[in-house]
Amino acid sequence: MQFTRLRLSGFKSFVDPTELVIEKGLTGVVGPNGCGKSNLLEALRWVMGETSPKSMRGTGMEDVIFAGTDSRNARHFAEVTLTIDNGARRAPAAFNEFELLEISRRIQREAGSTYRVNGKETRARDVQILFADTGTGANSPALVRQGQIGQLINAKPKARRLILEEAAGIAGLHSRRHEAELRLRAAEQNLTRLEDVIGTLE
Ligand code: ATP
Repeated sequence: MQFTRLRLSGFKSFVDPTELVIEKGLTGVVGPNGCGKSNLLEALRWVMGETSPKSMRGTGMEDVIFAGTDSRNARHFAEVTLTIDNGARRAPAAFNEFELLEISRRIQREAGSTYRVNGKETRARDVQILFADTGTGANSPALVRQGQIGQLINAKPKARRLILEEAAGIAGLHSRRHEAELRLRAAEQNLTRLEDVIGTLE
């Protein structure tokens, strides 16, 4: 899947709607200190389902909303939209009918985050799985943050394995297994309840 466009509004320093066209090949972001280079990468990770405010350099997720400056008021929401060319049909089955995928995440103060895929509200987990399956998740090794190379070298084997699993595109299987386990547990509880009811009827 090819990322083709990133749109931000009210996200960190990008208070005004900003659109970036992502061409094929390697993309570099250059600019003076503090101009928002890291914020752009964070916007990419955020729309892919990042859940850790700490890894977005904040204490709570609402910290991604433009906080205001001397001359501009704070915003009430932030929105990031990522457009993906799915011409090669590599998206998971649920999304694979679309040639273009538009994934957006919006956060509103005191109302949390919502996700949409091509305008339809979607669970965070489904968005995370969409990217995990294609090896491009929020923690994808394709996005190299400052200090990450050192972290990788010093990582314990288990942590290093997680990075390799993500690169191999199998990280989504863990999320699916977790979902399946939850469903299995719920079914087991229903069975136990049913046995109790049958027991009282006998
Ligand atoms: P460097 O080259 O020093 O790493 P950078 O280009 O990566 O810098 P960023 O770290 O992306 O820059 O951007 C930092 C800027 O973003 C700072 O000016 C900071 O005040 C601003 N910023 C971060 N969060 C918010 C927010 N919620 N609201 C407004 N501005 C913010």
